[in-house]
Amino acid sequence: MSFAPGLLAPLALASLGPSLAQAHDASAPRARLVVVISVDQLVPESLDRLAPWLSGGLGRFVHEGRVFARAALLHGDTETGPGHAAIGTGRLPRNNGVISNDWFARDKPASVYCFADAQSFEVTDSGVQSSTASSPRQLRCDGMADYLEAAVPGALTVAISSKDRSAIGMSGRRADLALWWDKQRGGFRSSTWYGTELPAWVREHNASWQERLPFAAGWKGELPEDFARSGTAPDEREGEAGRPGQRAFPHAVPPRGSALDSKGLATLAQWAYEGPASDVMVCELAREALVRLALGGDDATDLLCVSLSACDVVGHAYGPLSVEVADVLLRADRELGALFALLDERVGKGRWVAALSADHGVLELPETLAAQGYPARRITGREIADTLKDARNAISARFGADFFLSGNYRGLRLDARALAERKVDAREVREAYASELRRFGAGWMEHALTWDELRAIARDGAPASNGLVAMEANSFDEERTSDVVTLQKRYALAGLIHGTTHGTPHDYDRRIPLAFLGVGVVKGRDYRAASSIDALPTLFTLAGLPVPSDLDGRALALD
Ligand SMILES: [Zn+2]
Repeated sequence: MSFAPGLLAPLALASLGPSLAQAHDASAPRARLVVVISVDQLVPESLDRLAPWLSGGLGRFVHEGRVFARAALLHGDTETGPGHAAIGTGRLPRNNGVISNDWFARDKPASVYCFADAQSFEVTDSGVQSSTASSPRQLRCDGMADYLEAAVPGALTVAISSKDRSAIGMSGRRADLALWWDKQRGGFRSSTWYGTELPAWVREHNASWQERLPFAAGWKGELPEDFARSGTAPDEREGEAGRPGQRAFPHAVPPRGSALDSKGLATLAQWAYEGPASDVMVCELAREALVRLALGGDDATDLLCVSLSACDVVGHAYGPLSVEVADVLLRADRELGALFALLDERVGKGRWVAALSADHGVLELPETLAAQGYPARRITGREIADTLKDARNAISARFGADFFLSGNYRGLRLDARALAERKVDAREVREAYASELRRFGAGWMEHALTWDELRAIARDGAPASNGLVAMEANSFDEERTSDVVTLQKRYALAGLIHGTTHGTPHDYDRRIPLAFLGVGVVKGRDYRAASSIDALPTLFTLAGLPVPSDLDGRALALD
């Protein structure tokens, strides 16, 4: 179903028929609504640590759901785009094509955003804009919305996040509606991929975003009185982003009001994106969608995907053990609690099923880890630049040119045209580069792998030398993978002078929560292997829907 008469049908010519071969119990009552919650950068340790204080939506997963306590990603490039696409498609990046947030372009020194689309345009309150917008055009397979719409005529499929890549990745190719936060103007926007105008209820909701924006007096930590025993870190720590003195509660808020010019509006909209206000706004809109679209209102099962991004943005600045992340999660718990209460009221208790997961983990602040005795440190930009420069010089000395197109601490792309002009074997140059990178980057690099090695593992079943290499191969794509893929050592953080990040196949970046709620789910902790690619088949089974037969994930037993 489409919301706007001018809905484009960009995929109408493609062959997208999903295979729905796996048998399901046709006699089981179908759930009316499938709900997928992702909390960006949420690590399972945070849920465990905060469990005594979780009484809302996260609390329902923890206390009433089936929790897969050892869940971990199985792919190497642990970023937001791939993480949400893994949830949304039930497939590994090597099969869904979303290998990272950005990859190196093949023909010029530039990068390509995973959901960039030159043929889609922004849709805001005032209609179609001239600026291009994200879409799932580069996604190589179907996702939840596609499977649901194929199985259930009349199904409505909606995805909401403050990040475009989260809303798009979770839902698939043909969701009826995907909405994300507008960091320039505030409110939620979309892409012509989904339709040429925003539904009236979204425009109405957007009209009052400033009035509804919380934290008018600044973002204060509102942690429970007995919270000291949670094991959360002190408010101000070495390595946090921001100037000393501005890294602790309360965090200031920019001015708001009708008198703001476009610059002031952008500052406020960006601030809203960067803190817990974004989760409040996303959950409010999800509740509005539930009511306005009557999601789960009949037996045609609908889909609601919600991704909360504040944990990620705040986690990058202050680390996963911070009081800021704890405060974000306690608020997310309340917001999701309100959403679930509304689901019980409007869809009906036992008539909806839900999964909770995340797109990736994160490294704790290196300074905190180093103080605890871990070999954690920040790799300097100089170290990385020197490694690349020395490797390029060595290649030039051997081949007469360095064939370098793009590169950073995660790998490099060769200039295919220059290789062809000089009639040099690309495979030989890739191997030479990997060898030189390992030599010159020995102080910070775990491995340097060639496109050819990863292709052999991903496509021909060649054995991987270790688990990290296997994960890298699960992120392989013929067109998108770099010529050489590099990885920093465990606990070594690259690319940031403060704060922290994720993106590696190391264990801390791959750990994720995975939990399910619904009728028939036996509550408790489950220590069997599980991953976010299992969310789709598990939820569909739980909902009484046919499960696509060719997924990488599998339906987890919940009874
Ligand atoms: Zn993320």
